[in-house]
This record gives sequence, structure tokens and C-alpha cells, in this order.
Amino acid sequence: MADNDKKKWQTIIDREYLIAHPEGCPACGQKFNLGDPAVYACGTWGQDSKLIHESDAVFDAAAQMYMERECYEGRRSVPKAKSEF
Ligand SMILES: [Zn+2]
Repeated sequence: MADNDKKKWQTIIDREYLIAHPEGCPACGQKFNLGDPAVYACGTWGQDSKLIHESDAVFDAAAQMYMERECYEGRRSVPKAKSEF
């Protein structure tokens, strides 16, 4: 069941995507390669889900979606910092 939740966000980089997105991955800044496993994730760019390398993302079980790793880890530390303020 958890696997299905993840699967709907997962895809493989295909030729069309490579051509349409020459700028590469918004999370790590590296170019995609044909066949790279990728996931739709929200991140530091906002709530819009963008395709990033699967290795750049963390599955947020609470939100049932992927988040950019950096954003996810940042978000985790935010509530604590605020309560200690
Ligand atoms: Zn990446």
C-alpha cells in the first residue's frame, strides 16, 4: 500500500522530458540522463511538484508525497526552532 502511494509520483526520465527540460534537475542542478529514476516532489521552489532525481527526494509519509531532501530536512527543523524562540 505504501509502495503504491510512492509509485504514483515515480517515473523514469524519457527522451521527451530530456529535450523539454535541458536545464536538468531543480534539486541538485545536474542534468538528467535517459532512464534516470525520478519523482515528482515539492521543494524549495514551492508547492508545485517538479521532477527531480529520486535520490534527491524523501518520501513524506505524512503528506503522502515526495519532498526535496534539503527542503524536507529544513522543514523538520523549523517547528523546533520556532518553539524555542
Ligand atoms: Zn537531482
